[in-house]
Amino acid sequence: MHPCLTCGACCAYFRVSFHWSETDPALGGPVPADLTEPFDPHRVVMRGTWEQKPRCVALDAEIGVRSRCSIHPQRPTVCRDVPASWEFGEPSPQCDKARIAWGLPALTAADWRWRDDAANDDDSNPDDHDNDPSTPLPPMRAA
Ligand code: SF4
Ligand code: SF4
Repeated sequence: MHPCLTCGACCAYFRVSFHWSETDPALGGPVPADLTEPFDPHRVVMRGTWEQKPRCVALDAEIGVRSRCSIHPQRPTVCRDVPASWEFGEPSPQCDKARIAWGLPALTAADWRWRDDAANDDDSNPDDHDNDPSTPLPPMRAA
């Protein structure tokens, strides 16, 4: 399972600010404006993230247990730009910082092994040998 689905730490740690145009449908901005508030003349913030204990209003989560962004297809670019650690082969300082602040271990490359296994699976059967090319099927025996 994708680690973000059992985390949510970054959505309850950082101030999430971005250019106001991302909330303007006339400019192609997808973020619901009513979930934001003004931050400065150029930027808005996701409501709830400009608090002493930040938590985005769009976050539906029990941190470290289950998590989803309730506006996922419409989330701001800053949210899209935060990778989970090792998702793309390198650590993510923001991900690590948020997880550690919430008492969760930083992700490692091992947290993505499920994805490698899935990529090697030709038929979605988790129990057969095509999930692991290092364990080939035994040769057929003549009857
Ligand atoms: S802190 Fe990292 S693992 Fe957790 S939701 Fe954010 S990007 Fe995903
Ligand atoms: S908009 Fe979604 S991804 Fe961004 S901080 Fe809020 S809950 Fe997290």
